[in-house]
Amino acid sequence: MSDIIVRVVLESPVPVLFDYRCAASMEPLPGQLVRVPFGKRHLVGVVWALAQHSEIPQGRLRKIEVLWNECPPLTEQWRALATFAADYYQRALGEVVLPALPQSLRDASRWRRFFAAQHIYRLSPAGINELPAALPSQASAMRRLATALREAGELTASAARALHPQAIKLLNTWQHAGWVIHQTSAAGQGSGENSTLAIDPILNTAPELTKEQAIALKAINAASGFTPFLLHGVTGSGKTEVYLRALATLLASNPSAQALVLVPEINLTPQFEAFFRARLTASTTEMLVTLHSGLAEGERARAWLAAHTGRARIVLGTRLAVLASLPQLALIIVDEEHDTAYKQQEKLRYSARDLAIWRAKQLNIPIVLGSATPALETWRHAQLKHYTCLTLTHRAVAEAVLPATRLIDMSIPKHRNDGDLAGLSKPLLDALRARLACGEQSLIFLNRRGYAPALACNACGWVAGCIRCSTYLVLHKQERSMRCHHCGWHTRIPHACAECGNVDLAPLGRGTQQLEERLAHALPEAKILRIDADSTRRKGSAQTLFAAVAAGEVDILIGTQMIAKGHDFQRVTLVGVLNADIALFSHDFRATERLFAQLLQASGRAGRAGHGEVLIQTRYPQHPLYQALVRHDYVGFAKATLAERQQARLPPFSYQALLRAEARTLEAAFNFLARAASALDTLPGAEHVTRYEPVPMIVVKVMHVQRAQLLLESTSRIALQSVLRAWQSHLHALKIKDVLRWSIEVDPLEF
Ligand code: ADP
Ligand code: ZN
Ligand code: ZN
Repeated sequence: MSDIIVRVVLESPVPVLFDYRCAASMEPLPGQLVRVPFGKRHLVGVVWALAQHSEIPQGRLRKIEVLWNECPPLTEQWRALATFAADYYQRALGEVVLPALPQSLRDASRWRRFFAAQHIYRLSPAGINELPAALPSQASAMRRLATALREAGELTASAARALHPQAIKLLNTWQHAGWVIHQTSAAGQGSGENSTLAIDPILNTAPELTKEQAIALKAINAASGFTPFLLHGVTGSGKTEVYLRALATLLASNPSAQALVLVPEINLTPQFEAFFRARLTASTTEMLVTLHSGLAEGERARAWLAAHTGRARIVLGTRLAVLASLPQLALIIVDEEHDTAYKQQEKLRYSARDLAIWRAKQLNIPIVLGSATPALETWRHAQLKHYTCLTLTHRAVAEAVLPATRLIDMSIPKHRNDGDLAGLSKPLLDALRARLACGEQSLIFLNRRGYAPALACNACGWVAGCIRCSTYLVLHKQERSMRCHHCGWHTRIPHACAECGNVDLAPLGRGTQQLEERLAHALPEAKILRIDADSTRRKGSAQTLFAAVAAGEVDILIGTQMIAKGHDFQRVTLVGVLNADIALFSHDFRATERLFAQLLQASGRAGRAGHGEVLIQTRYPQHPLYQALVRHDYVGFAKATLAERQQARLPPFSYQALLRAEARTLEAAFNFLARAASALDTLPGAEHVTRYEPVPMIVVKVMHVQRAQLLLESTSRIALQSVLRAWQSHLHALKIKDVLRWSIEVDPLEF
């Protein structure tokens, strides 16, 4: 029997396919997962192509060990997506394809388990009518099991066991009574005939759409082919309701279609999932799966397989979900599309929003980008009519209007508090007291965690710094430590200055911990809750805290950007903003865009169920950014900012890429960048690209590594791409013995 050559993608930064032999009788297909020998190891890879010949001599070609036949191959469209991402972001295919697969599927010894037969139980029509009445009233665990069966439609054996230790015995008894139907199914099968997913006709407590929502929905429902929509809706305008109806329409009309819903933060997935599950009926729980980095490995692999085999109809996830395999993808929704969390900041530095748009175009399907503060890139596409703009100008809840925004001028002495109140102004404190008196919730947004951003010596000016990075250590009073927010290094709080021995050390600036402490002094009767990366470190703790807010167990919520996004806090009527000015003077041209979005999102948490007020403390109340905020004027802000960008030829009027170098010494990093720059100048097309001088990164040293970067810019994306491609191979050829790492980042968002 003859062999064929199988060309396999393995996880490797080297941009090549690896050739193996495979018996023709095994009928390998492109897109299939395989296990192959690699040196002394065994690796999982993906068959990318079949060939008759290999450059490698017959005798040295090794054989494929396992071909995973139970798992359908990755489709041609998915492979094209991976190829595009590798190409566009200047990475090897193996750095895209394998990381896109769940870790446990990259371990061939687990494959069998994922496709083993599953036992599934569901209620029969008789069971629906008779079972509840037949149960003894005091048997609560039994009742829970019965309720779960009814609500979920079906239960797997393991899910049932989690509800009742004797579940399988009970289910068998109920089966004998004719109340329960028992099936075994191979979990790898495609979507069943009778799988349905639709707006729940009974539980449907759907509000009547506002006029604007109805218009938007109609446009989305009518779309066919590649149709990008910008759903530009003010905070609280009910964008989620529009998403839900669009999903329901699509999935009901097409019994195999799949939809992808992206949200920027893990913390937003439970809220969305609960909302979708409450309003949709699904004949299996697997019809809606979530995909994000917070899932346990097994869960993630199961969710990924459900998407890949078409069993999942809705995939709700964070940025990594944009690379999920969805063979029947028919609609994409990107909520809060402007959010920078959609940008992956390591390895394959992709923008999930941009890849989503590419996917929609490739598959010729509609995509909805939702935001109250669209990214300027997106806004410009809408202005140029590349995207259809759907606008929601009012809040959806009839009584809710956009909050009144007031600027508190901190340069006026009478606005400041006499005692040390962590920078809280008098008007804001008064407003907090007033809410407290009438039992309403307040939220204070301070985008800085820890107690104080630095600790300094009052005698000589020494500031405690990280031993590994060029950064100051952040004082964390509650954890009794000084912490580096760049590398995680921590140490005890020093008692004396390391330079002069003086014991008079003082915190510089303020973080959320300090605000929490001072506020507790000032308002002892208030229940205060802090939500930031420190208070939510344990898995699930963020959800517990958000639930406490929703249940009204909190008077004042203090938090970083974690609380500013997307959450539908029904009881918050006051939002205070501290220490926002700092971003007005950033070196990063996107800083004001981000600040505007952040503050508008934060203020959007106020008054979602009725009246609301936003107080922003600033020393620059006349700044156009704040003036636009007071008017809720995104359009004006976008227009002015785009005009500035156009004048300076900055994105979206140009395209950028960065070359970053990391080395033990800054000199070595600069050397490498200088050689890279000379190589660039010799490339065809280099005249279409502006090359800036190499500069050290703002935080130049992290973990003892010195970092520098070189910026390229062009008014043509195509010209930039072709230069980057040629440049890459030159860079690989440069001898870089002093440089630890280098990487190209396309469309960087932060500098
Ligand atoms: P957004 O995502 O646009 O900020 P949400 O989708 O969170 O807004 O909706 C804000 C609130 O309005 C939610 O509490 C939602 O239940 C409610 N809502 C949405 N649509 C309607 C409607 N048509 N009628 C009444 N309430 C609505
Ligand atoms: Zn000192
Ligand atoms: Zn550090």
